[in-house]
Amino acid sequence: MPSVYIKTYGCQMNERDSEAVAAQLVAKGYTLAPSEAQADVILLNTCSVRDFAEQKALNKMVNLAAETRRTRPDVVLGFMGCMAQSRGQELIDRLPDVDLVLGTQKFHRAADYLDALLAGRREKIVDVAAEPGSEATIREHLLYGNAAKNGDGHRPPLPVTAFVSIMQGCNQYCTFCIVPYTRGEERSRGIPDLVAECRQLVSQGVKEITLLGQIVTSYGKREGSSREAKAEGREPENFLPSTLDPRPSTSKSPFVQLLDAVHEIEGLERIRFTSPHPKGYGDDLIEAYARLPKLVESAHLPVQSGSDRVLKLMHRGYTRARYVGIIDKLRRARPEIGISTDIIVGFPGETEDDFEQTLSLAREVEFDQAYIFKYSQRRDTPAAEMPGQVPQKIREERNQRLLEVINEIGRRRYDAFVGRRTQILVEGPSKKNPARMTGRTRCNKIVVFDGSERHRGQLMDVKITRAGSFTLYGDPAIVNL
Ligand code: SAM
Repeated sequence: MPSVYIKTYGCQMNERDSEAVAAQLVAKGYTLAPSEAQADVILLNTCSVRDFAEQKALNKMVNLAAETRRTRPDVVLGFMGCMAQSRGQELIDRLPDVDLVLGTQKFHRAADYLDALLAGRREKIVDVAAEPGSEATIREHLLYGNAAKNGDGHRPPLPVTAFVSIMQGCNQYCTFCIVPYTRGEERSRGIPDLVAECRQLVSQGVKEITLLGQIVTSYGKREGSSREAKAEGREPENFLPSTLDPRPSTSKSPFVQLLDAVHEIEGLERIRFTSPHPKGYGDDLIEAYARLPKLVESAHLPVQSGSDRVLKLMHRGYTRARYVGIIDKLRRARPEIGISTDIIVGFPGETEDDFEQTLSLAREVEFDQAYIFKYSQRRDTPAAEMPGQVPQKIREERNQRLLEVINEIGRRRYDAFVGRRTQILVEGPSKKNPARMTGRTRCNKIVVFDGSERHRGQLMDVKITRAGSFTLYGDPAIVNL
């Protein structure tokens, strides 16, 4: 049977899409190649959020084409995901060695298209059309059983954590962001369908589930709105599963209703989600943190800037004060909560004063972790045409200055764990040093310790002995077995 290798760029949603495509192919009899060099099919799952990510995937394909066409001309080469969606046919015009371009609403067609290409029935395939219902097709997981064996005969161990894609698309239209154009309109899956997927994962040993969507706080809003449903000539969907409390829950957003439903699943230990949007972050969600013990003390809440003027230019729909207010409420609900964020530096028109406000926000909130992005012009986005584009040198300099503040605060917050006992869920061997194991605290910090395979999947208390760069080290001597 043919073997496939998928290389993923970008966010967790891309990781999840790649997993679903791999699972789909394995179910059709493909094996998973351990490297590109051994694969009959090589797919690059791409990211368009910044130009840098696009260039990386394009360069990779140029190198792959040069290598494979010389030695293994029959290897099928494909792009999938966000850049495939935004560039479509242009990719094959530019790189004629590419055989397949698969858009973000077409992942479930991968097996059929690859079969046709491998059998020589089709020469090239580009499919980037919109497809209603495609949001519900990212459902297959690479678990023991359907994962079968890797090409090298190795059976991967059961995963302890899993991502579940609850929705696709984005309707926010932040002025810097390409996502609404690559992922389409917001479309959410129903609660019963999602609960069934989570239940299945838990029955196969998964202990922690991360609910994924571009803007999870918008989950179900479009489908649940009777006004929109009427306008579209359909019945509004019922997002409440029949097993839930039948009392009216008008004060709970569909996303909190989903959290309630997933929380009911016996055997599930931990729930996470990413990414929410500050605009839709209601008190019902803060109250969920106080109420649901499986919802861990961790929140990733992208802020993007500390300046109200820039937030307005970005079309974010909230102020700095509103953002800080949410963080205050979260910390009151769960004092131990770990907070991470995304920040863009060098947005068009960002002055030194605006940037100083971002630095002051970082110091005020004291993030545990922040992902800093140098602004990147994206085609068809309003910000790309805005006056006051910030020179690259200044973007880099601001990136460095913010990084120093974030690292300094992070170091302090990580150091504060030394000497404390904390619960971790053991995920598997450390990537840097496979002789050691890693787990994750409820507040989303990685802990490395001297353990073994038998610890995988266990919830256990460790004593933190040392803090490194965004990593904690635990003492195995006091591990509770
Ligand atoms: N949907 C999430 C949200 O908006 O809250 C995040 C999605 S995006 C994949 C991850 C991050 O990339 C964003 O939060 C933003 O900080 C960054 N990003 C998006 N567009 C960008 C651009 N044009 N230049 C630089 N960073 C960008």
